Amino acid sequence: MKCRLLTTIPLVLLLAACLGAEEKKTMMETREKAPAEPGEKVIKTDAEWRQELTAEQYRILREAGTERAHGAVYKEFKQQGAGSYHCAGCGALLFSSKEKFDSGCGWPSFYDPAKAENVRIKLDLSLGMKRLEVICAKCDGHLGHVFEGEGYNTPTDKRYCINGAGLVFVPAGKTAKPKPEPAEESKR
Ligand SMILES: [Zn+2]
Repeated sequence: MKCRLLTTIPLVLLLAACLGAEEKKTMMETREKAPAEPGEKVIKTDAEWRQELTAEQYRILREAGTERAHGAVYKEFKQQGAGSYHCAGCGALLFSSKEKFDSGCGWPSFYDPAKAENVRIKLDLSLGMKRLEVICAKCDGHLGHVFEGEGYNTPTDKRYCINGAGLVFVPAGKTAKPKPEPAEESKR
């Protein structure tokens, strides 16, 4: 009798330890998986980007270029009504007409992103200036810069100064295409 009890106790302890470890493992798995869910990264080779984007889109999104102020894209932007603005590289929702305002600077301006998790801010020390670069969090495409405290009468007093060529406008009620096809003539 005494002998059987002695063999039973370690077995119970071992079983309890195993169950505990199993539980811990499940918790860790859940924790590791969670952050990957909201934003899947869009990673492409340079050759793929060159093929998919127009020359202007490539220059802006992949080479951190800036479009001409008060250009055709900006004029088009000013005419656009209600809708959302998506990344021309990966289609992620970035801004919307709700946050759009007329800053008069010559580039599309927004006081806030429409989906904050899709927009990343990075310190940019190029051209001898200290600026905050605005990047698409999904494909790392360069969008423009953000300036704060300039005295605009908006809820945030921030100006997301964005290159229109890096955005694709989707009018309200329409569905965004997962990947916009560049127009044939602007591809040349
Ligand atoms: Zn993107």
